[in-house]
Amino acid sequence: MIRVAIDGPSGAGKSTVAKRIAKDLSIIYVDTGAMYRCIGLYVLRQGFDTKDAQAVTGCLAQIHMETSYDAQNGQRIFLNGEDVSEAIRTSEASMAASNVSAIPAVRAFLLELQQSMAKKQSLIMDGRDIGTVVIPDAELKIFLTASPESRAKRRYLEYIQKGQDVQYEDVLRDVILRDKQDTSRAAAPLRAADDALFLDTTYIDFEGTVSHIKSLIFHKMQQLGLSL
Ligand code: C5P
Repeated sequence: MIRVAIDGPSGAGKSTVAKRIAKDLSIIYVDTGAMYRCIGLYVLRQGFDTKDAQAVTGCLAQIHMETSYDAQNGQRIFLNGEDVSEAIRTSEASMAASNVSAIPAVRAFLLELQQSMAKKQSLIMDGRDIGTVVIPDAELKIFLTASPESRAKRRYLEYIQKGQDVQYEDVLRDVILRDKQDTSRAAAPLRAADDALFLDTTYIDFEGTVSHIKSLIFHKMQQLGLSL
């Protein structure tokens, strides 16, 4: 069994890279950002302020999340039975996720869920605190990063491809703001674990990043005598 933790700021390519590696190795992929996004979306829909710790904490008992995977539709996430896989990918849901993620009760709620998933199977999990808090004893920890401009450009192209009406300058501003919120919050701030390997993807393309991480995984498995 091998557990791979991938952390880093938004838009560094964590989820696309992790998803592809999980598929190639036939292991589970856990997108922890999607879980924070689900909570953010729920709170937005209730009409509450996503920074209001009391209101957000009060919502948690009403939230039930499930993920599923099938070859045709890929990974889907369900919020109280509704497939919200697309609804959580807007810029509003991104900011809402960043806001709710600073609330300790939200982190505690998701930590339990994430740790129970990481107990018994090979997996690749991505987020902001996977190597530092969720799986501090992960066999391989990677900190994936890239310049704010290249991360904003990737997010912008994703939104445009989905037909969303956004401006690059606004996406860049949101990326910088989210980085600031995610790194400066008191509860599990975004930071690289001391034993994480740094990978800057500003000038490496998707395939290059995937094959580099796969070789790190195989190397680690060989070093530790592990199988999948
Ligand atoms: O990775 P993604 O952009 O989907 O994450 C959305 C937000 O959720 C991030 O900006 C961050 O604030 C929060 N998050 C977190 N811890 C994680 C994963 C995501 O705080 N492990």
